[in-house]
Parts: sequence; C-alpha cells; structure tokens
Amino acid sequence: MRARRIATSGSTRWPTKPGWRETITDALDDQLARCQPGDTLIVRHGAADQGVDRIVAGWIADHLEPAAQRTVRLVEETVPARWEECAPSCRPEHRRVNRGNRGKAPTYCPSAGHRRNPDIPAHPDYPVDLFLAWCLNDSSGTSKTIEHARKARIAHRTWNAYR
Ligand SMILES: [Zn+2]
Repeated sequence: MRARRIATSGSTRWPTKPGWRETITDALDDQLARCQPGDTLIVRHGAADQGVDRIVAGWIADHLEPAAQRTVRLVEETVPARWEECAPSCRPEHRRVNRGNRGKAPTYCPSAGHRRNPDIPAHPDYPVDLFLAWCLNDSSGTSKTIEHARKARIAHRTWNAYR
C-alpha cells in the first residue's frame, strides 16, 4: 500500500473534443494502471472549468464511480487560483469582468492563475511524485509552470501540441 501524488496542469485552450481529450486521459489511465491494489492515487489539478483542468476533472469523476474505483483509492486535489485577490504588484484598472467561471466576484484578477501555477507542481506542503503538463501553442502560463517544475527538479512529463 502506498500513496502516489501526481500533479497536472496545462493550457485552458486545450480542446476538450475527442482526440485531444485522449492525449490526457490515456496518460491518466497509464498512471492508474501503474498502481497496485490498496494504493492511493492523488491527482491534483487547477480547477479551471475549461481545457486541461476540465478534462482531468472529468477523468477523475469517471473513475470515482464505485464500479470503476476497483481497489485503487482515487483522490481529487484541487489548487484553484484566488481570482478575487490581487497582488501588491497589480496595476490599477487591470481587473476583468468575471463571466462566471472565475470565482464569484463580479471582477477577477487576470494574474491570479499565474501566481497560483507554481503551487501545482511544487506545493510546499504537498510534494508530488510526478508532474504531467499539456501545453498548447507554447502558452505562456503552462510554459512557465513547466519551467518552474524543471528548476525545482520535479519529475515531469510534458506534451506540446500546436493548432
Ligand atoms: Zn490583480
């Protein structure tokens, strides 16, 4: 019995349609298949309601079903951005109108995701065994998160796609 924690991250514009989706779910299936009976697999994501996070959350939901759970305990761990908060370095008038997918406040800080991203692969209190990232069109947020993981010497695997 052992616990294995993996972190996932990636572009919010990663398509959720077939083909693109399987690039992510196949990798997660592979991680689940490596577990032994009695193991716990903790899967972390950033809780965005689009792109990579959405596909990861969907995969977790599918595998939380008791029938699919089998003997591996799957745990979802989310590290959402704090969209309501600004940093001291934020410029005035930079907040954007929230269309409902970034917390509950009428406006959100567009930098909140970038401030949160390093915590996905390298949360100080919850180290991960492996970091998986899917980057579309070299998107800056995901690229920086991967770079952070690399500098922190966290085991990682990345996929790059272009469209
Ligand atoms: Zn701000």
